[in-house]
Amino acid sequence: MSRFTLNRKKAKLKKLLGIRARLALLALILVAPLMLDRARSLEDTRSKQISHASEEFAELAQHSADAQREVVSSVETMLKSAAYIRASAGGIASGCDLLRQSLPVNLPWIRSLLIVGGDGHVQCATRNELVGLDLSKRDYLKKARETRDFVVSDFLFAITTDKPTVIAAYPVSAIREDSKAVIVAGISLNWMSKIMANLGGRPGISAALIDSTGTVLAAPADEASLIGRRLDSIPLLAPIAGKVLNTDKNEGSIPFVAADNSRRIVNFARIPGTQSRLIVSIDETKVSAAINRDIRTAYLQLCFVCVFVLLGALVAAENLIIYPVEVMATAAKRFGQGDWSARAGRSSLPAEFVPLARAFNAMAARLGERERELIAANDRLTVMASIDMLSGLANRRGFQSRLDFEWMKAQQCDTELSLLLIDVDHFKLYNDTYGHPEGDACLARLSETLAGIAADTMGFASRYGGEEFCLLLPNTPAARALEIGERVRQAALAQALPHVTSIHQMVTVSVGVATTKPNDTQRPGDLIEAADAALYAAKHRGRNAVVEHGFVRVTDDSMTMAS
Ligand code: GH3
Ligand code: MG
Ligand code: MG
Repeated sequence: MSRFTLNRKKAKLKKLLGIRARLALLALILVAPLMLDRARSLEDTRSKQISHASEEFAELAQHSADAQREVVSSVETMLKSAAYIRASAGGIASGCDLLRQSLPVNLPWIRSLLIVGGDGHVQCATRNELVGLDLSKRDYLKKARETRDFVVSDFLFAITTDKPTVIAAYPVSAIREDSKAVIVAGISLNWMSKIMANLGGRPGISAALIDSTGTVLAAPADEASLIGRRLDSIPLLAPIAGKVLNTDKNEGSIPFVAADNSRRIVNFARIPGTQSRLIVSIDETKVSAAINRDIRTAYLQLCFVCVFVLLGALVAAENLIIYPVEVMATAAKRFGQGDWSARAGRSSLPAEFVPLARAFNAMAARLGERERELIAANDRLTVMASIDMLSGLANRRGFQSRLDFEWMKAQQCDTELSLLLIDVDHFKLYNDTYGHPEGDACLARLSETLAGIAADTMGFASRYGGEEFCLLLPNTPAARALEIGERVRQAALAQALPHVTSIHQMVTVSVGVATTKPNDTQRPGDLIEAADAALYAAKHRGRNAVVEHGFVRVTDDSMTMAS
């Protein structure tokens, strides 16, 4: 990757991680642990609630199983006492009467009590219509005889009514060995279902009492449709049917995922003395619906808190950092654009930025002061650069800029502009004769004289270079310029500075005069050239002469001197 691309990526990242983003990130870093802790505690509460519900229902299942067991025990007791009666009674008739009388009314879950003879036929029954019924093929009868013990059948249909029922049987042979009779009782499934009522009507909970084959014997009223169905044919319980039926444990709990993908826990408890089991299945989702709602609300609250914290961070960043920085940047920008009065207002800034603003304002004040001093010094330098030190007049540069200005002015006002070019005659000889310092003094004297004339004539005197001077005469026609040129020549002569090596014996000057009305076809240089040409003519005429460009007007004495 090239260095350039890398730098661009760095710049982009820097831009992304501006102050606002950094503060928002900081706020999130502060809030995140609180959020995570809250989320963790909520999840913890949820799992505790589920396990609590599971324990609660396991307990309920156990209670219900105990209640069922009491029913079964009471049936067993009932059958045993009937067996004693049967064993001790002489004939079947007296035994039957005793049996009928012995069926207590307070055991409503026993639907009927029968004495089955050795041939499998009902010899005696609390309900007459059952007498003579052949039960010889019933498994529970065979099993009771074989085991000589109390037996509870699986789910079966009553022979007479074809209604679902469960039968308990106790062989008289358990008391008197030679007896082939068996005491049989029909147990009311309705009653068993009633005992389970406390497990019904709860969302997400289903309960059932199953026999050894997994057929539902009893269920709470809201699930009565399950009675008679096999566990593996009930979609919500099918996945655990095998596990519940095959386990050796008397009680336990098995988590599983039902056909509708709901996570469930099944608690089971065996009814002691029987192969029946009471199972309670709990739908975790429904049980935890309330806590899930609470968790959703809590997460929503956390989101709001995060949004508020972020907004707060952004507002704080805006007011405490971005705004002051912008105030400072605006002041610095104005200052950079040359507005020396630009200052950062301190009143609206946070306290931390006040020293910075104060320092900036002090720096701005100092820089403004220096700028003013610099401009003044520059102005002074400009003036100095335009002044000739020896003569005190404007130098060539000063003359040039003044000529440009007067040229423009004359062009705008449509007036005439004249120029006198003045050259000291035989000045080289003067220097040679009197020395250079004396030559300087001579030039200084002539400058003074020229300055006086300039002041009188509203002209602008300058040293053109060496021993040459100019006199710029704005708004001056040629005739007047010629007069002034003559005045200059005479004033120089009037100085009476001796010059023994000059043919005039005095210091004299030659003057070239040029006048024009500036227009677009001419340039300022043309006026200088014309004055120079006139000066050249004056020299040619014998010096100490004044010559106007285009013609020569010679004074009397210069004529004399020139001739
Ligand atoms: P002409 O009459 O034809 O003008 O002759 P000239 O000697 O005046 O002219 P030339 O150009 O030959 O000589 C000019 C002299 O002026 C040469 C130089 O030494 C002298 N000069 C120029 N500037 C200064 C100055 O600042 N001080 C002094 N002392 N002499 C200067
Ligand atoms: Mg010269
Ligand atoms: Mg000269």
